[in-house]
Amino acid sequence: MEIRLNNTMTREKEVFRPLEPGEVKLYTCGLTVYNFAHIGNLRAYVFADTLKRVFLFNGYNVNHVMNITDVGHLTDDEDSGEDKMEEGARREGKTVWEIVDFYTQAFFKDMEKLRILLPTTTCRATRHIDDMIEMIKKIESNGFTYIAGGNVYFDTSKLPDYGKLGRLKLDGEKTRSRVESDPYKRNPFDFVLWFTRYKYENHAMQWDSPWGKGFPGWHIECSAMSSRYLGERFDIHTGGIDHIPVHHTNEIAQSEAAFGHEWVNYWLHSEFLVIGEGEKMSKSLGNFITLQTLADSGYDPLDYRYYLLGAHYRKQLAFSLEALDGARNAMRKLRSRISQFAEDSEGSVEINRELLEEFHEAINDDLNTPRALAVLWKVVDSDKLTSMEKLSLINEFDRVFALGLSEIERESVPEDIQELARDRSKARENRQWDRADELRKAISEKGYEILDERDGYSIRKK
Ligand code: AMP
Ligand code: ZN
Repeated sequence: MEIRLNNTMTREKEVFRPLEPGEVKLYTCGLTVYNFAHIGNLRAYVFADTLKRVFLFNGYNVNHVMNITDVGHLTDDEDSGEDKMEEGARREGKTVWEIVDFYTQAFFKDMEKLRILLPTTTCRATRHIDDMIEMIKKIESNGFTYIAGGNVYFDTSKLPDYGKLGRLKLDGEKTRSRVESDPYKRNPFDFVLWFTRYKYENHAMQWDSPWGKGFPGWHIECSAMSSRYLGERFDIHTGGIDHIPVHHTNEIAQSEAAFGHEWVNYWLHSEFLVIGEGEKMSKSLGNFITLQTLADSGYDPLDYRYYLLGAHYRKQLAFSLEALDGARNAMRKLRSRISQFAEDSEGSVEINRELLEEFHEAINDDLNTPRALAVLWKVVDSDKLTSMEKLSLINEFDRVFALGLSEIERESVPEDIQELARDRSKARENRQWDRADELRKAISEKGYEILDERDGYSIRKK
């Protein structure tokens, strides 16, 4: 079945065609590890995980690479302000390296709690400085750089289609206030590939380079590490929508300048999680909530995953505890209903093709998880499907949802109740309706109820 994805580059929903049959090369911009991930950040990673799971569901191999940003990301995305790692170190009275280690581990714990599959490769920027230097050298020898004020800049005027991803209006935006913040930029859109000591003398992380001791700009890490692990051309690149106008635009400029050809085929961006009056959740605004904050208030991380799946990734999502309560209730109801589906021991069951297809179509349609969840509820509530048919569908769906639905323990029904149920079934076969009714009552008095299904029955606690 075709997979259709909304490509930010073309603004169209396109049929996915891999570079190599059966294989997806996927890159995700990882977290800047100077603080805990907030639940807005985690939306971007649950989205990337769902995308990957959809490909796995469709039988693809997924080569997934995610970076960890531990250098070069300044407090302003466009090269001014302080390095975020230094900000974290100052805030906590630790070294930058301690900050990086601590928050990287915390990020991995959050991903595990949310059942996000580990990428095939997770790579730290500071362990790939040589790759970045090599790439800057290529960009330089292709004539796309200049040196000013001690920094190596990317010269955006040399690239005729600079800004194509965000459809930036280059003339109209020339007056952006950021011009003044860096007098060495020839053009407000130019960005730093390498900072030298000249500019940041006290920067804790510094490396030798052909341009002097210093550290890389933020954007070059993703171009350098993706090409190291996925090659100079790959299928899909993901991130949050804030990356469109600056970070991803600059990643494209650098990569296409270095390689001399188009770089990534599909760009996918997830929308923001907002709070209050539509304010973006962000560390700099100080309005952020972590997964731990939610756990402290009694929410399971998978309640949050369910909550995220209930909205399409391209729609802004307004966070509120009331909405999260709704997700928690839905999860409780799901767990309780699924725990009552009796597992028939008599071998495997034929999967219901029609409902499986309905689910498959929903997820292949640009990851329509709200529609896929509606199919899940249709299955759970069906009075036509047997318990075993329901369980086999739910197990399949959970390969994409990852809500732990396939691991819910079924409550075992006591032997005396099962015996009564078997007798009732025999009575019905023999058309002894009164006897069948009596047995139903007896079961009911013991606190259980019998649900007749197409090819049998199930028993559940009342
Ligand atoms: P950063 O650590 O700033 O590089 O951000 C990590 C990821 O979180 C990026 O993909 C961002 O686009 C994404 N992100 C940041 N804030 C939000 C938010 N409020 N809602 C959803 N995604 C966000
Ligand atoms: Zn990136």
